[in-house]
Amino acid sequence: KTYRSGRRLADRLTGRPETFVQAVNNVSFGIERGEIMGLIGESGCGKSTLGRTILRLHEPTAGRVTFDGTDLGALPDAEMKAMRRRMQIIFQDPYASLNPRRTVAEIVGLPLQLHGLATGRGALREKTAEILEKVGLKSMHLDRYPHQFSGGQRQRIGIARALVSHPEFIVCDEPVSALDVSIQAQIIQLLTDLKQEMGLTYLFISHDISVIGYLSDRVAVMYLGEIVELGSVETVLANPRHPYTQSLMSAVPEVDRPGHRSRVRLTGDLPSPLAPPPGCKFHTRCPLAIDICRQKAPVAESVGPGHTAACHRLHENLSLLEQEAS
Ligand code: SF4
Ligand code: MG
Repeated sequence: KTYRSGRRLADRLTGRPETFVQAVNNVSFGIERGEIMGLIGESGCGKSTLGRTILRLHEPTAGRVTFDGTDLGALPDAEMKAMRRRMQIIFQDPYASLNPRRTVAEIVGLPLQLHGLATGRGALREKTAEILEKVGLKSMHLDRYPHQFSGGQRQRIGIARALVSHPEFIVCDEPVSALDVSIQAQIIQLLTDLKQEMGLTYLFISHDISVIGYLSDRVAVMYLGEIVELGSVETVLANPRHPYTQSLMSAVPEVDRPGHRSRVRLTGDLPSPLAPPPGCKFHTRCPLAIDICRQKAPVAESVGPGHTAACHRLHENLSLLEQEAS
């Protein structure tokens, strides 16, 4: 609410109307309890917006988000607030997302206070220390400030904050992208261990297909706010059907399969979400684009068990990967 009225005020001051960006469109999928759903795409394609919309940190202008059978859009504010205990987010940049003037105890303890999960200083510190231990930080760190920690430790603090209220569903928004490569594996391991231990469900956002391939059960591939391909991670990685997914796959050297190793070079930049191309949004960069692609948006269709893709040329069995290799 504050944000909205703030923006309206800004609009009044500048005389500019609200800019409307359709960041996410025609997206429909479910995430099963206990699953890791990977969400992959270039930066700026709408992944974070989708993650935040699911948590209702962004208000969708249309559509519906259902959590454990409850339509979140229909919830009164007080009930949505209670629901937030069950759904949390881990941010990309652990430094920017931690208040530099608050101690670790204050940062991690805040959700406990907000949701009335610990009363009294003793209980608060005890629960905070407990979760910090779980993420690999000793409780002696409780009274230090974020700047006194390394990048990896700061992300552990961010994870502790997300998990302290014992949520069920976590949006992991590029949680390792800002970290040194040497630290990334530790944090990924921590997240997979915690998932098992605490019975969590993740939407795991990344632009790195090797990270997604390592930990996801299913993967959704996003391009300019739309899911262009969806399926089990084994299927999509072994048999990517959408040209955009194929271009992502071809950029990964570890994906060592005969005929799939040369790099597909996409021409042109990611178009502005303010003015997405008509027809298939990928047509300005797709090496397989034909006339119909410029006119008509393809609809997602089934290409195998639990596997869907949206492309006009699916049935021609063309592959950018094989084409480049021959
Ligand atoms: Fe490429 Fe056309 Fe398929 Fe879009 S619909 S991905 S432009 S071939
Ligand atoms: Mg993002």
